[in-house]
Amino acid sequence: QDPNRYLKCELKPFGDEKLLIIYDVTRLQHLEGMRRDFVANVSHELGTPLTVLMGYLENFSDQPDMPAHWRRGFELMTQQTARMNRVVNDLLLLSRIEIEETHEFNEIDMTKLLTHVYDDAQAYNQEYKHTIHLHIDTYDGLYGSEMYLNSALSNLVINAIKYTPKGGNISISWTKTLEGCRFAVEDNGIGIAPQHLTRLTERFYRVDSGRSRETGGTGLGLAIVKHVLYQHEAHLQIESIEGVGSTFSAVFPNNYIRSAVIN
Ligand code: ADP
Repeated sequence: QDPNRYLKCELKPFGDEKLLIIYDVTRLQHLEGMRRDFVANVSHELGTPLTVLMGYLENFSDQPDMPAHWRRGFELMTQQTARMNRVVNDLLLLSRIEIEETHEFNEIDMTKLLTHVYDDAQAYNQEYKHTIHLHIDTYDGLYGSEMYLNSALSNLVINAIKYTPKGGNISISWTKTLEGCRFAVEDNGIGIAPQHLTRLTERFYRVDSGRSRETGGTGLGLAIVKHVLYQHEAHLQIESIEGVGSTFSAVFPNNYIRSAVIN
């Protein structure tokens, strides 16, 4: 009855009967809300100083008469500020996704969105030289947030590129299933050992933080993916064998699918 109280119910087997357990999670919800606001405020506050820093660093780095021993220092400052900026932007994106639970949902042409994700991936792929295939087996689209989905699906594809040794094979697919439509990215990269699989979507969790940093990762990508998929009632599935490769996939349920009208 009390709108300020949050309750969580769980139904458990109890002999031949069922037992309904009700938890009062008001305090937990409250703390979670404080954490969300804190992260959103900090990332927002850091945005402006970082923009100023990056602007000045760029100006100074362009000076032709800069002493050689300063140049290296400026390069490092520029790299690290850019890294900080990526972390802040990802934290901001994550907070926005968490707060605006149903951000501007529209009908999305998945062929267009996936072609866009594929083109971006090819640009990123220049230094890795992987073979990337895009298989679109259905013209069915989605009802969802185009901006967030673009970001989430790109994250999965960029990860496949980053965590696959040069010259690998990556396949992106969009297929129809009984339950809805399935998006999948398959790579023949470094793979992930089983003990890490359940923790990958935690913020800042990385299997190898050195490698992740080297490739410009923030450790927030899969947390973003999980939240975006959750908004569309889809769940991230990860299948992986260390040294063989990984498949990241999600089935979008039928109520989010917009069937293509063929004339
Ligand atoms: P990051 O910015 O570190 O890439 P993510 O949240 O996107 O952060 O991913 C978390 C971790 O999951 C990565 O650091 C990496 O260890 C692992 N990972 C993600 N995608 C793949 C993949 N396709 N193959 C192997 N490992 C992966």
